[in-house]
Amino acid sequence: MTHQEWESLCDGCGRCCLHKLEDEDDGRMYYTRAACALLDIKTCRCNDYQNREQLMPDCIQLSIEQAEYFNWLPSTCAYRLLAEGEPLPDWHPLISGDPDSVVKAGISVRDFAKPDKDVTDLTEEVIALPDPKKAEQNDT
Ligand code: SF4
Ligand code: SF4
Repeated sequence: MTHQEWESLCDGCGRCCLHKLEDEDDGRMYYTRAACALLDIKTCRCNDYQNREQLMPDCIQLSIEQAEYFNWLPSTCAYRLLAEGEPLPDWHPLISGDPDSVVKAGISVRDFAKPDKDVTDLTEEVIALPDPKKAEQNDT
């Protein structure tokens, strides 16, 4: 896979740029609404993608070599789906051909994320990230 192909897997949802809390007892990850200070919530893009390593040392660079550790990523993320042998969903831009399908499917954090500077207590911001596939499975 080329670097460009790898990058194109990212649907631009912004979910991995939300702050997370980890349960010390069972290692379970909880996502919050609070977004990394570098995330442009409107576009769900990093404001300084090239320099993010220096600016945000906690920002994790995803590479294919780490695929076995991708279970911290949201269940909708293409990198996690591929690592788990799952297909890309219908709303993924590489399938739909429409970059807005991520927003239309409710996957983008655009409508619910908030800047971390506006958050005083992360535990009050925990959310369940919508996953259309899981909702579908629960309906059947
Ligand atoms: S969660 Fe996955 S698909 Fe969404 S922005 Fe992060 S890397 Fe890209
Ligand atoms: S530095 Fe950029 S890519 Fe990394 S978490 Fe923040 S917004 Fe996302």
